[in-house]
Amino acid sequence: MAHSLSKSLKTGEVLFREGERAGYAYIIEKGRVVVSVEREGESVVLGTVGPGEIIGEMAVIDQHRRTATATVKEDCEVTLITPQQILQRIARADPVVRSLIRVMLVRYRSELAMDQSPQFLDETDEVPVDFGIGKMLFENELRDALNDEEVQVVYQPMRSLTATSKNGFEALVRWQTGPHGTISPAGLINLAEETDLIEPLSLYVFRAAAEDLADFRAATTSDLFLSVNISPRQTSDTDFLNRAWDICAEVNCRPDEIMLELTESAFVDIEKLREWVDAAKAMGFMISVDDFGTGYASLEYLTRLAPHTVKIDRNIIRPITHDPRYVVVVNKVLEMARELGVLAIAEGAETYEHVRMLMDMGCDMAQGFEIDRPLTKFQIIELLAG
Ligand code: C2E
Ligand code: CA
Ligand code: CA
Repeated sequence: MAHSLSKSLKTGEVLFREGERAGYAYIIEKGRVVVSVEREGESVVLGTVGPGEIIGEMAVIDQHRRTATATVKEDCEVTLITPQQILQRIARADPVVRSLIRVMLVRYRSELAMDQSPQFLDETDEVPVDFGIGKMLFENELRDALNDEEVQVVYQPMRSLTATSKNGFEALVRWQTGPHGTISPAGLINLAEETDLIEPLSLYVFRAAAEDLADFRAATTSDLFLSVNISPRQTSDTDFLNRAWDICAEVNCRPDEIMLELTESAFVDIEKLREWVDAAKAMGFMISVDDFGTGYASLEYLTRLAPHTVKIDRNIIRPITHDPRYVVVVNKVLEMARELGVLAIAEGAETYEHVRMLMDMGCDMAQGFEIDRPLTKFQIIELLAG
């Protein structure tokens, strides 16, 4: 357990000295401390710090020697801050913020060293392209890829298991040409969510789907719908919804042919999400609760959001062929969906046995490798035309 230590110092005492290894950082509670550096045998004052201010944190952050001396100017009370207290917080920070701190420190230190003897600068002071910087590079590459339309959207069929419901296709993002090699869609979404790129990426996928829907419609006479995954970040305001609605108007597709798939997120307030869902429904969009049964999408989502469909997560569908307990669970979910008037779609139908069982259990639709893998737009058109 980190505990804070206090220390009293008299005027003239030295808190830390240039060249020393860093022990603590200090918060000044009372008194004043003057910071100075030694240049050509002369002491040059850099500044004075007083109550409420922190001092000596830089060397603690970069585990560097002190590049200045701190001397008490007026009797002081200081609280000692341990390296762990600072470093643990930095470790928990956003990687980009972490990199920025490092960059700023190195830059500050090299400026300080310009007219100072270089004896305290380590040779390792170059800024490596670390994780946080890498993310910023990624951000630029993804932005270019979106501009150059190098990001692809594939569609995975959701097949009706009854004679009544129509067929659907889930739009899934693919980015394979990035210099990072193949990045999984989940990884891509996570990275985009940490930056401001989630909005352009989501709109890109939405636009591609809405445009392709017109070609899908032209290839068949049967009814169909498209499903688009919505990142929790998109539901914090109605900006995405308004833009999506505009795209529909622009490419001449009806919002009621598009289903928005939502999954639970710890960061989303369900009451606010309900307002978002109501706005989406008012525009005509269909709503689906994704990943149901995993604990990611809770019962509350099903009752409070009153969605059109529920997608039962592949992790509770896959075991039904060999574990009867999952049959019980899936049957209960299906019963609940029926009673709530919600269409049930099973994910992860990987074998013929899965599909047959789901049909017998009265599940409305299924999606999975047994039915089809995610396919390109052209493959879908062929499938619909054939
Ligand atoms: P998800 O929404 O659960 O999407 C279904 C995922 O299951 C897809 O993976 C699909 O390829 C995979 N899948 C389909 N059938 C089977 C099967 O029978 N067995 C197994 N084991 N897996 C199957 P994918 O494309 O890798 O997407 C992963 C996740 O990334 C998606 O999970 C979704 O949460 C997210 N994602 C994908 N595209 C987008 C997007 O455009 N926007 C947002 N916000 N999220 C997306
Ligand atoms: Ca989904
Ligand atoms: Ca899912």
